[in-house]
Amino acid sequence: MSDSEKKAFILDTMLGELARWLRLLGYDTLYSRVYTDSQILKIAERTGRIVVTRDRGLYIRARKRGLRAVYITGDTIVERLAELAIKVGISLRPDPSRSRCPRCNAPLVVVRDKEKVRGRVPPRSFEAHDVFYVCPRCGMVYWEGSHWKNIRRIAKEAEELARSAGEAGRSRGAHRGRG
Ligand SMILES: [Zn+2]
Repeated sequence: MSDSEKKAFILDTMLGELARWLRLLGYDTLYSRVYTDSQILKIAERTGRIVVTRDRGLYIRARKRGLRAVYITGDTIVERLAELAIKVGISLRPDPSRSRCPRCNAPLVVVRDKEKVRGRVPPRSFEAHDVFYVCPRCGMVYWEGSHWKNIRRIAKEAEELARSAGEAGRSRGAHRGRG
């Protein structure tokens, strides 16, 4: 069982961008703008998901119920990904063949016969790529376009931040403060 299959998350309504990132990194991640705190706790209890929140009150409620929870303090996506890497040990190596749909969380299907996606992607992208990733649930089609450079850069920055924060934390015996 790979790491991304073991860890599953549920995020609070403030963490939409982080939800898309976790799915991209292959983690089963529930997120909805309409979840209430009570719903989040109930779902986490029922499914064993890790609650990820920016809301200190929700974090405390989750911990009181004995749930695994992460309180996110960082403001940028790089800081937030690094926090999750430190506190939960997520892997920060994006690989589209292991990604889930950022929009709906279904595992993506790799399509190598690109005729299957003709007409569903812009002509220029169709010509430029041979491998596509299709969401079996919502039908979205993805490919490793130029934005993947950005995705890899952000993931690398987060990995470096997690590493340096982890080292600083170990030598101080305390967790890094807000930067
Ligand atoms: Zn989808």
